[in-house]
Amino acid sequence: MSSNQKQPVECGCGKTFEWTLWESINVTTDPDLKESLLNGTLNVVVCPYCGLLFYYERFLLYHDEKKRYLFYVYNHDCEEDKEVLKKKAVADCRAIRDKSEKHEIFSDYRIEVFFGLDNLVKFLKEEEL
Ligand SMILES: [Zn+2]
Repeated sequence: MSSNQKQPVECGCGKTFEWTLWESINVTTDPDLKESLLNGTLNVVVCPYCGLLFYYERFLLYHDEKKRYLFYVYNHDCEEDKEVLKKKAVADCRAIRDKSEKHEIFSDYRIEVFFGLDNLVKFLKEEEL
């Protein structure tokens, strides 16, 4: 399931406004969100004050049930170590799986950590070649 939420966004013009941003996308149930991601329109906002269109970076969870991918996409300026984040992600999924009834959730999933949606997009495009 994909999910989004309204959150305050600050524009370069100094104004703040609310925008609905995706925090988790399931590209198996919502393939159009994968399209938006590949087109670079996912989490792009438009300032109602000055009309500026820009990408608002935030953490995003990318889930592909068919390919069994679970990707954690952090901001570019995230200072934590990629390996540390990956270990944390793997531990999280293991905990969810252990709590599930049949211990099937997220088993044999590929879990990866990316910094920035552009790096995720690069990975997905290379994969399709
Ligand atoms: Zn603005």
